[in-house]
Amino acid sequence: FNYPQPANEPVQHYAPGSPERAALKKALSDARQTTLDIPMVIGGEFVKTAKKVSIHPPHEIGHTLGHYYEGGEQEINAAIDAALQAKESWENMSWEDRAGIFLKTADLIATKYRYQFNAATMLGQSKNAYQAEIDSACELIDFLRYNVHFLSEIYRQQPVSSPGVHNRTEWRALEGFVLALTPFNFTAIAGNLPTSAAMCGNTVVWKVSNTQVYSASWIMKILMEAGLPAGVINLVFVPGSTLGKVVFSHPDFAGIHFTGSSGVFNEIWKTIGANMQVYKTYPRIVGETGGKDFVMVHKSADVAVTATALARGAFEFQGQKCSAASRAYLPSNIAEDIKAKLLEMVQSFKMGGVEDFGNFINAVIDEKSFDKIAAYIDSASNDEKVKIIAGGKYDKSKGYFIEPTIIETSDPEYVTMCEEIFGPVLTIYVYDADKFEETLKLVNGTSPYALTGSIIARDRDAIALATSKLRHAAGNFYINDKPTGAVVGQQPFGGARASGTNDKAGSMINLYRWLSARTIKETF
Ligand code: GLU
Repeated sequence: FNYPQPANEPVQHYAPGSPERAALKKALSDARQTTLDIPMVIGGEFVKTAKKVSIHPPHEIGHTLGHYYEGGEQEINAAIDAALQAKESWENMSWEDRAGIFLKTADLIATKYRYQFNAATMLGQSKNAYQAEIDSACELIDFLRYNVHFLSEIYRQQPVSSPGVHNRTEWRALEGFVLALTPFNFTAIAGNLPTSAAMCGNTVVWKVSNTQVYSASWIMKILMEAGLPAGVINLVFVPGSTLGKVVFSHPDFAGIHFTGSSGVFNEIWKTIGANMQVYKTYPRIVGETGGKDFVMVHKSADVAVTATALARGAFEFQGQKCSAASRAYLPSNIAEDIKAKLLEMVQSFKMGGVEDFGNFINAVIDEKSFDKIAAYIDSASNDEKVKIIAGGKYDKSKGYFIEPTIIETSDPEYVTMCEEIFGPVLTIYVYDADKFEETLKLVNGTSPYALTGSIIARDRDAIALATSKLRHAAGNFYINDKPTGAVVGQQPFGGARASGTNDKAGSMINLYRWLSARTIKETF
């Protein structure tokens, strides 16, 4: 079965007065009238425990949306058992039938649940309408359809045969179960990590971030409506440490599909290494982790292009993207013009809840993130070497609001030029416009990460030099654009160094990791 390359799902724009806007507004107000009661899903059954955890919009912490149920060791073990039990029939199901489930899921999101699903992402994760649309609608739909396409391409790959010899590759799933450990910041990533592995014939234990339970429960509901058999994906809400203890000591653990922090990923890798003798097979370890993404500006750059790349790259979704622009290198000849334009844009951003569609900036995800980001801002305010040139204020009385903040430093290795903050904080460093090549060395060497980055320039030699000198500084490298917003099928996404295993999300590279080929030779 050949599924040709699909088109990307078109982005809906929710313009004032449009029917799409009315539908999304209605979904938001309906969601407010409903009290969420979200169970885990293990072996196709809804599982509730005695431990209820309430859910609040990050921008309106006084409002309770409802609650989910938290599980422990027992539920994790049940999820593993359910995955192992479902494995044989799932792996044996024809590819056409398996693919149909994921294509139907994409269609259900696109046509039936788009507004409710986006509303869940908006309320649960504090994304504005546009950020929700490009995430829970477009990107997840694209992941599902493109992965079906890529996998059908992989399945077609067969070795040569010769007279008397018939060779085959059987694209088996892994032996055992796969763990998907997903982040809060993209509903699409939360949907992609379990489904890409499952599509290949694996069965999955899916642990979501406790701040993304609301939209995750929608993904599960839609997958089930599309016909996903019981046990293929098991959704659990459990503490990470309990999960790690059970999953990483299980002999049938076959792989992890992870997006989250580098620190957590390092710990997971060590634990897996320490337990190696327990497993039947070497587990696949696939992770997308942190970023400290640069925007390198050349003296030939267009000022407006630069300011837009910085304003959008750093502050959309409050900078909570692994790909967010967080360190900028401005050339001295146009630095003042860029700053002026950037400040004008940032000062025009309105901040508030998601129901007012005029708000560009919403809240950061939770108190822990808020406190961490605020501490970086505080230490910058107390440091004479740096200046806060925009924002710098924060308030968590009603929701976790932090103004889009720009720090200027004359020290290219100042802490906020190096460490991942994961919030609306951009640090800029002005360099001598004639020292472009030296500054490229700084860009390459300042942070341990290598996820995304941009070069902004009109001079083609400068673009070529940056592209070559920064070869390993980013897995996604953008020319005259912001470093965020990779589109499935167009800019396969992922980075190396401390940013992960670079198994590009939404690509064949990623899907190969969930397959374990068997070579079959028959002689006549
Ligand atoms: N793929 C997203 C982008 O290109 C970022 C993913 C992430 O934050 O993990 O902006």
